[in-house]
Amino acid sequence: MKVLVAVKRVIDYNVKVRVKPDNSDVDLTNVKMAMNPFCEIAIEEAVRLKEKGVASEIVVVSIGPKTAQEQIRTALALGADRGILIETEEKLESLTVAKLLKAVVEKEQPQLVILGKQSIDNDNNQTGQMLGALTGMAQGTFASEVAIDGDKVNVTREIDGGLRTVALKLPAIVTTDLRLNEPRYASLPNIMKAKRKPLDTVTPAELSVEVKQTQTLVKVTPPAARSAGIKVASVQELVEKLKNEAKVL
Ligand code: AMP
Repeated sequence: MKVLVAVKRVIDYNVKVRVKPDNSDVDLTNVKMAMNPFCEIAIEEAVRLKEKGVASEIVVVSIGPKTAQEQIRTALALGADRGILIETEEKLESLTVAKLLKAVVEKEQPQLVILGKQSIDNDNNQTGQMLGALTGMAQGTFASEVAIDGDKVNVTREIDGGLRTVALKLPAIVTTDLRLNEPRYASLPNIMKAKRKPLDTVTPAELSVEVKQTQTLVKVTPPAARSAGIKVASVQELVEKLKNEAKVL
């Protein structure tokens, strides 16, 4: 079974994000970039399927600038077999990403496509769903468990007060939630080996997809600074302030 995994290059989740002084966007100057955490979970799930003998090949795809090769190499070090970079410097909207992924799906014919449920930079949470709509493939989103069962995949999702499992006919699309697995770290020998794994580069034009902008980013503002706390001298004073100042009692 061939598995296609989409990984996105985003700001490292440990970085405190800065906004440009003119509020036009997030400031990416000299900022550490990394693989989107939900995409790490997607790769980990594909590697586990390969280790179980269920998956035979893992193809990883990323769309973005040349530097997104770094995230593809990381995925190769974690166990993917080959990579595809769809290289573009343009701003990408989810629908464009989904159209590009559809073109890769048509060429590669994977049985399973795994994406993160969400990118931590734009929080869109829509690429997997759009890919489902464009390809007509079944989709199981926010997966906390994935189990291949013959020509089906059972995808479990955590819902309010319980779990819900859907059975999807393969080929299918799965998007990963946080508790699906705990991604491994790449070992040094595997990082070295990953340098020799194949990585193809294509352009959106070669896939006959136009990179269009239908949205304009109006403004980005940082969260309001928290005001400093105060120390109270006694429980009475605390209760008095909660009652009369915060008015929460
Ligand atoms: P989003 O819909 O932007 O929140 O992203 C959800 C998932 O779609 C991500 O976790 C990735 O698996 C995939 N994705 C989004 N943008 C890209 C991209 N530029 N390159 C590769 N995969 C992407």
